Parts: sequence; structure tokens; C-alpha cells
Amino acid sequence: MRLEAVVDRLVEYVARKASGLTTRHSLESIVGPSIASVVRDRVERIALFIAKQRNGALWCRLCGKGPFTKRGFYLHLIRVHPLDIRYMLEDELHEALSTHG
Ligand SMILES: [Zn+2]
Repeated sequence: MRLEAVVDRLVEYVARKASGLTTRHSLESIVGPSIASVVRDRVERIALFIAKQRNGALWCRLCGKGPFTKRGFYLHLIRVHPLDIRYMLEDELHEALSTHG
């Protein structure tokens, strides 16, 4: 797998997951089924981490802003934090794939 080629699509995937929106592509279709089974937990953990739910609204744990609607939070993540999410993904994927062999 060429990591660079998939990280951009994973950023969008994570932003959608974190916002509670339906993902347009499955993790399997982005990274392939064998890699998906290895990285799924880590990718989901990033999505859970960056969203903070309070009083039925979404708040950004990366910068503390909010409240957002689902759509508003998705746009916030894509516009303001693509690099943050990218770094988190690269860290997790490198680690997951190196321990995977
Ligand atoms: Zn933010």
C-alpha cells in the first residue's frame, strides 16, 4: 500500500466518522480489505477522539470550538484540521503496519 495515496481519502473518512455523517466509501475500499482489518480500530479511535459530544452538539477537541452541527463539524475538520488529522493517521498507520509485519 502506498500510504500517501490513501491518506487524503482517509482524512475525509475520519472527518465524516467524527461528525456522525455517512461515509461515502468503506474503509475496505480505501485501503483494501487486509489493511482495513489491521487499521480499523486505530482509524475509529482518531474519529472518536477529535469529536466531543455535549448537550447533543459536537465540539472540536483539536481547537475547542463549537457547538457544531454534523455538517458544520465535518466542514470545520476538512477546512481547519486536515493536516492535524493527516499527522494522526500517518502515525497510527505507520505503527499499525510496522507491527503487522
Ligand atoms: Zn477545531
